[in-house]
Amino acid sequence: SKRVAVLTSGGDAPGMNACIRAIVIACKKRNYDLIGYLHGYNGLIKQESISLSLDSTHNLIQQGGTVLHSARCKAFTEEAGLKQAAANLSEAGVDALLVIGGDGSFRGATHLADHYLGQIIGIPGTIDNDIAGTDATIGYYTAIDTAMNSIDKVRDTADAFERIFLVEVMGRHAGFLALNAALSSAADYVILPEFFESPESEIKKILTQIHAQRRVRGSVSFIVVVAENVWPQGLQALTKALNDSGITDVRPVTLGHVQRGGTPVSNDRLLATSLGEYAVSLVGTDTSNVMVGEVNREPTTVPLTTTSDSKPLNSAQVALMKSIMNERYG
Ligand code: ADP
Repeated sequence: SKRVAVLTSGGDAPGMNACIRAIVIACKKRNYDLIGYLHGYNGLIKQESISLSLDSTHNLIQQGGTVLHSARCKAFTEEAGLKQAAANLSEAGVDALLVIGGDGSFRGATHLADHYLGQIIGIPGTIDNDIAGTDATIGYYTAIDTAMNSIDKVRDTADAFERIFLVEVMGRHAGFLALNAALSSAADYVILPEFFESPESEIKKILTQIHAQRRVRGSVSFIVVVAENVWPQGLQALTKALNDSGITDVRPVTLGHVQRGGTPVSNDRLLATSLGEYAVSLVGTDTSNVMVGEVNREPTTVPLTTTSDSKPLNSAQVALMKSIMNERYG
């Protein structure tokens, strides 16, 4: 029999619990022992763990957050911390460690492999979808839904006052969430890191769109989705720049951490369930230091070291958004 350990690390995402549930069930089916380490890599270093039984999975699939808690861990970025974690895993007799997290967590896992001889398998969990080797990450679909629903509500109030709203969406340094939130909420404009040229050129394009829209339809609301970390000096600076450029009543909204929470939508539960089962199915094989993912709905593995590679936006979606932004008012 095997002993498996699981932890959740880095930015939390809806569906991490659904993945833990799938891992519990997959381990039970094979008679594997399962340990859950708490607070990301901190629990590995401090030996804080809980046993995960079938009882603990009741209704877990629909809970946001992670019952194992997540955290960042500075000690894990140092040699001493990595060695301590590896020693603790060996002492606990852990044959395979499953890490649910983002690319930072996978970088940490890669370094752990220098000291730990057991298997390491990553499972992509982040709302940002910025991990190469999988079409989607656990939590991404829910975050799109949350952002879309929020923008729908912003538009109601924007329409009432014929205002211009700037809505900042998460995504770290990638535009997946912002692009999909913009498309699904019929936003008028989107600013993405992948296509950002300069503040001046973006402002010029936004003003052109607003003026064209006002010529054709009169004064109506205008929604700009802005990916986080794109605008130099942040959303307030963009608000001020637009207000200073002759159009009034520009309001900024930062959606923030609501995008990390909530009950996972079906696509995230399905992905989490498939990847949890697939990860456990690899335990005992000679596959290690990989991340499991799904490409064209088929399970795949890629080396952990390639998960930080750049990942392109969907080109058809990009073309669609560009045509919406540029051709609507002719
Ligand atoms: P995410 O996994 O969501 O990308 P972070 O980038 O914050 O989140 O990484 C999560 C944790 O992974 C960090 O707090 C740290 O413990 C560990 N980690 C990240 N990079 C490294 C590294 N180069 N070496 C060791 N550990 C790392």
